[in-house]
Amino acid sequence: MRRRPLLLTGLLAGTLALSVVPPAPATVADGVPAAAVTSPATAAAAPAREKPPRKKATAVGRGGAVTSVDADASRIGLGVLRRGGNAVDAAVATGAALGVTEPYSAGVGGGGYLVYYDARSGRVHTIDGRETAPRAIPRDAFVDPGTGEPYPFFPDLVTSGVSVGVPGTPATWNTALRRWGTRPLAAVLRPAARLAQRGFVVDRTFRSQTADNRERFAAFTSSRRLFLPGGRLPRVGTRFANPDLARTYRALGRHPRMFYRGALPRQISRVVQRPPTTRGTDLPVPPGYLRPGDFRRYEALVQRPTKTRYRDFDVVGMAPSSSGGTTVGEALNILERLGLRDAAPRDVLHRYLEASALAFADRSAYLGDARFVDVPVRQLLSQRFGDERACRVDPRRALRKPVAAGDPRRADGRCGTPSGRAPAADDHEGLSTTHLTVADRWGNVVSYTLTIEQTGGSGIVVPGRGFLLNNELTDFSLTYERGDPNRIQPGKRPRSSMSPTMLLRDGRPVLALGSPGGSTIITTVLQVLVNRYERGFTLPQAVAAPRASQRNEPEVSAEPAFVQRWKRILGRYGHRVVPSGDQFTSEAEIGAVTGIELGPRGLMTAVAEPRRRGGGSAVVLRPR
Ligand code: GLU
Repeated sequence: MRRRPLLLTGLLAGTLALSVVPPAPATVADGVPAAAVTSPATAAAAPAREKPPRKKATAVGRGGAVTSVDADASRIGLGVLRRGGNAVDAAVATGAALGVTEPYSAGVGGGGYLVYYDARSGRVHTIDGRETAPRAIPRDAFVDPGTGEPYPFFPDLVTSGVSVGVPGTPATWNTALRRWGTRPLAAVLRPAARLAQRGFVVDRTFRSQTADNRERFAAFTSSRRLFLPGGRLPRVGTRFANPDLARTYRALGRHPRMFYRGALPRQISRVVQRPPTTRGTDLPVPPGYLRPGDFRRYEALVQRPTKTRYRDFDVVGMAPSSSGGTTVGEALNILERLGLRDAAPRDVLHRYLEASALAFADRSAYLGDARFVDVPVRQLLSQRFGDERACRVDPRRALRKPVAAGDPRRADGRCGTPSGRAPAADDHEGLSTTHLTVADRWGNVVSYTLTIEQTGGSGIVVPGRGFLLNNELTDFSLTYERGDPNRIQPGKRPRSSMSPTMLLRDGRPVLALGSPGGSTIITTVLQVLVNRYERGFTLPQAVAAPRASQRNEPEVSAEPAFVQRWKRILGRYGHRVVPSGDQFTSEAEIGAVTGIELGPRGLMTAVAEPRRRGGGSAVVLRPR
């Protein structure tokens, strides 16, 4: 199933233009008549246009580096490093700033996964800050009691209380700082609070994401007020301030557990059970089941990374509840066995696509929240299993998709082992989220992916708090089947694809990276690694190169430039390469990577996207 942005229907009622400063003029704009604008403030003169801050996609230097999708966020992270904070302090500060400037992709209402290399001990730690299902959630939560049928994914399920999980991001920040940071939460949140108070300059991406969500935001009094002030879309070049979020950050700094105890969990539970819909909205908005006790029970889990050997690297990533670490790792093992070193580019790509399809088959069959399901992590990542899966790849002919899963528990590394069950290929993960990467002067490195799931999350802003609630529970399988590792269960975390990843050589990080993009996160990380290490690209080239994603589906979805270059050539192997996006969405981009390569003598190459999502921002403390 695919997602589509909701189409604009109906006019919005007037709201006070409290959030965009300076206010928008009361002229006909964006299809909303001036009569709908009621605030006297909105009758002021046309706002001065500002330029969004400049950004660079690659920065090379020493002393510390930050890379994210946003210039304000990267700058804030770098400021923390400059003032002597470490990579963890800077990562939380950058993440909090992204909650201001990328509120539709990330924020305190969502969750994420953080990988941390600790230079002093030489160890890698991870935090699973995934959202969690309420204890009261029934197995048929995604079935409409009115009809007995599953809720339509659009718009019902994504814009609902029922898809909201307990947010994990505040707990992730607090846990990371307490364990490995050097600054208190309040200090680290301060720059982002200031940014929220003052506002950031609206760019085209923010405006178009708001437009895509217009009908959803208009369905809630709180969201309409924040994101559609005066009934309008925020204009490019104006400042978008969010004083409510500034207040939330300040309060969180004073009370690091405020999301899990007291008034806020009570308020969020109320909002989820009775979403603050606007009068006259046509959206159905199914209510949810969160209660304050669910928040009290929440924990960000500090756990060991997944680990696999690839070439002379140790590749570390996120263990379940994410499927990122095992799927990236398994595919690399398959590729290792297939051998790519002297292969022509077309053969490298063919093998990349096949390895990815096979690893995705195993992902569907075995991956879920490991506290509920026995996930064979070690076996999935064994080279023996990778070797066995590699036997299925024909160097000249693409396998018919979907391919069946293997049986990692009985892998003996030999060809001819029968396959396991055929996986259910039901991919409905969103394409939102954001990834940031930080390195400091002491050698600590953070790779952190955070999300609220769909762009715009559930569409519901918590009134007076300035942030959107996630709709992460839509990452569960939508139908309930006993053997499905990702079926909905009370207290469980939905399976993720987030893949914050690091490569270490001789125990020291050489590359850290990650991406948004739902299940294409996995293929994006994989493709960048293949580009970098098997095709001889530099990191900026590896990131910029056109992408293709094979997730065990009959077709390979690819960006336009990839289609143009490779469709015919890969077609000869039997790959059906089709443009990414579909009839509902024009979004053809796959992923939005950030990464840092760590060279000899402290040299850092920080890389963001040159173009995707409007381009990202890489900064270093002492440029070369
Ligand atoms: N919910 C997705 C996941 O956990 C991420 C969504 C996205 O990247 O947009 O894998």
